[in-house]
Amino acid sequence: MNDMTALEMQDLLIDGRRVAPLTGRYFATVNPATEQVIAQVAEAGVEDIDAAVRSARKAFEGEWGHMKASDRGRLLLKLADLIGRNEDELVMLESLDSGKPVSAIRRQDLPAVIDTLIYYAGMADKINGQVIPARTDALTYTVREPLGVVGAIIPWNFPLMIGMWKMAPALACGCSVVLKPAEITPLSALRIGELALEAGFPAGALNVVPGFGKVAGQALVDHRDVDKVTFTGSPVVGRQILQSAAGNLKRVTLELGGKSANIIFPDADIDAAVKAAGSGIFFNTGQVCSAGSRILAHADIYDEVVERLAARAKSMRLGDPLEASTSMGPLVSEVQMNRVLNYIDVGRNEGASVVAGGARATETGYYVQPTVFVGVEHEMRVSQEEIFGPVATVIKFIDDEDALRIANGTVYSLAAGVWSADINRVHRFARQLKAGTVWINTYGPTDIRLPWGGARDSGFGREHGDMAIENFTEPKVVWINTGR
Ligand code: NAP
Ligand code: MG
Repeated sequence: MNDMTALEMQDLLIDGRRVAPLTGRYFATVNPATEQVIAQVAEAGVEDIDAAVRSARKAFEGEWGHMKASDRGRLLLKLADLIGRNEDELVMLESLDSGKPVSAIRRQDLPAVIDTLIYYAGMADKINGQVIPARTDALTYTVREPLGVVGAIIPWNFPLMIGMWKMAPALACGCSVVLKPAEITPLSALRIGELALEAGFPAGALNVVPGFGKVAGQALVDHRDVDKVTFTGSPVVGRQILQSAAGNLKRVTLELGGKSANIIFPDADIDAAVKAAGSGIFFNTGQVCSAGSRILAHADIYDEVVERLAARAKSMRLGDPLEASTSMGPLVSEVQMNRVLNYIDVGRNEGASVVAGGARATETGYYVQPTVFVGVEHEMRVSQEEIFGPVATVIKFIDDEDALRIANGTVYSLAAGVWSADINRVHRFARQLKAGTVWINTYGPTDIRLPWGGARDSGFGREHGDMAIENFTEPKVVWINTGR
């Protein structure tokens, strides 16, 4: 597919149909590898969001809301099947829109999307209540009811995967969804919306409304008839969402960023640790909320870790995301590239040194060289703030206490990694690291069966697993007076 084939105009997907936006406006979405416009995408305004929410409400009160749970599960399986059958197209769309290498999307994102659907398809008819024998004069039990209309707001770093992490459990629970994809990566979500219709989801069960965060996203968060907002993105927007959601006391789940520590001790398998540290920060061009952006290396192995990591950085194959051999694509947008380049300047000005990369990689396309900073102090901005790019900071520590202090010393609590052969130490670190996930002698894997999320500036609530069911349902008590 070349960039403009069949993609020219992308309308909203509301109430089972592609519709032109009431705003009358379209915005360009760009391929970050080529800087070419791929398509013009409908820009949802306040009234479009209102139409989508009304459609979602109608579905929830109508056919969708009355569907048998096992039939919802079947539809999710059908969607998984259709996604599998349209894999080539989805991989291409996601790559063109986001700059992710096709090899990574095929190996990681698409299988994760399908796995997520299959997992929640199986859960749709296992959302049980409990009989709780509170009294002898009554039958008392709980049921779990779907919350209603869910607003899902997602970022651009894993559009297909993070979108599905929200849609699949919400739909499994019987909620209807209004999905606002990130303005710079709207294409795969629109296609998923179409495939959902093809699978047989009733109109309005899933609406997809691209647009700008400040307008479309904000309208969704402000809407009085939205029951729940599930958001992944920045702490700044997370805070705004929380405030806006106070209007009708919406439930909110926030998955915000991180500045995760990946701690390497001298007794670790250094080869494996550095390999994983490299992919921990360079995978997806560093645009990962759980990126291991702070590599903490013990003083005894600091030089060795730095040397090997720099070599890995220099060996990354930057290039055309459509080439199977490319291991790193561009950053997702010019804005993000400039943000990352600015952080590289900040690090240099703070006194850290660059031992690999440190500059834009190409004249065309938003490529930044994989970059390794050494001589990094814990207090520097580059070791405190989320850069969201291929920039590793390597920080020296002297003992366990030092490592823990540094690792826990940011505003974030999303993930952390520890590399050591000492069984006591790894258990102690697992307990004492402030993180939603602690990886021991590995870095970065996630699985839909395991709760995912963080605390403090990384947000709150958990996605994935059966915890996601609690995000989209609420318990009701039924009390039947039986008399004695
Ligand atoms: P962002 O602004 O938080 O965007 C995330 C989503 O929220 C997008 O769909 C965005 O729409 C929307 N949004 C923006 N303002 C909104 C508002 N007032 N009300 C409702 N929705 C709103 O994140 P970003 O600017 O794309 O990225 C900035 C930084 O966020 C990154 O550099 C990174 O540090 C962090 N981030 C974290 C994650 C993660 O996985 N935790 C993912 C992505 C980014 P638009 O697309 O129109 O902006
Ligand atoms: Mg794009």
